[in-house]
Amino acid sequence: MRLNPFGGSRRTQQADAVVTGAGSGIGRAFAIELGRRGGRVICSDIDGHRARETVEMVGAAGGKAFDAICDVSRINEVGNLADTAEEWFGKPPDIVVNNAGIGRGGMVIGDAPLTEWHQVLDVNLWGVVHGCHVFAPLLREAGHGHLVNVASAAAFAAGPRMAAYNVSKAGVLALSETLAAELSGTGVGVTVLCPTGVKTNILEDVPIPDETVARWGDRLLRWTGRPPATIARITLDAVDRGQLYVVPQVEAKLIWQSKRLLPEPYTRAAGLLERLAR
Ligand code: NAD
Repeated sequence: MRLNPFGGSRRTQQADAVVTGAGSGIGRAFAIELGRRGGRVICSDIDGHRARETVEMVGAAGGKAFDAICDVSRINEVGNLADTAEEWFGKPPDIVVNNAGIGRGGMVIGDAPLTEWHQVLDVNLWGVVHGCHVFAPLLREAGHGHLVNVASAAAFAAGPRMAAYNVSKAGVLALSETLAAELSGTGVGVTVLCPTGVKTNILEDVPIPDETVARWGDRLLRWTGRPPATIARITLDAVDRGQLYVVPQVEAKLIWQSKRLLPEPYTRAAGLLERLAR
């Protein structure tokens, strides 16, 4: 860990990092930004081809990278990822970004099939649980490092027709807060990222049966989504400041504050807005 002359730490500079879901979108942007900051990055993804593409991009950004196939919903694969990291770095990583996730939605509770609930929770929640379960003890033992968990503003926004996704992200938020409490005073930090729209491939291949819902989802992402590179940079700067919560966009902050100040009117308004938009 390098000291920051302005206070705080510069743990994202020349860091040895592991990023899950690094083959696209936000994970890829994290990997590239860590490379730009002089780091060595293990770019892991369920899709080996995409992970290798990211390795090239990290190299072009000035970093060193290594690809690994890892399905985060499988604990043995996350365990293997940690072994690979220790082998490659010769020590535990400085930063672990539990980012891999999938998007699902479009149906109300009761209509959405339980298979969708299982798929979403397996990757978005269990994937992050596995990442924390495997890496937190290694970092605690080392006495330094940082875990970055990618949740979403969906964790608190109560957006209709995406219950499984919302629940998975609320779980990631609670997990991160608990982890931060447990790790306080150990030298290991935790940051949880809660963005609204980010321009990525997350809606690609998402089977949304209702055309209106699919069209609105796509438009929202295209019109209001931020570039993943911006989100990665903001988050890593927050890691350097030791910040727990990263709610990077104005609308995400608005939702976060409204929900805390006026939870019941907020929830009724979320339902009304969704009905009006249809
Ligand atoms: P993306 O689809 O562009 O990238 C996701 C990556 O994760 C892909 O490379 C995919 O192959 C990989 N992946 C999928 N399942 C996996 C698994 N089981 N194991 C390992 N890798 C797997 O999507 P993104 O938007 O970059 O999503 C990254 C994270 O950001 C997700 O957790 C998502 O929920 C979260 N997020 C996205 C947005 C957004 O608007 N894009 C907003 C808030 C939060």
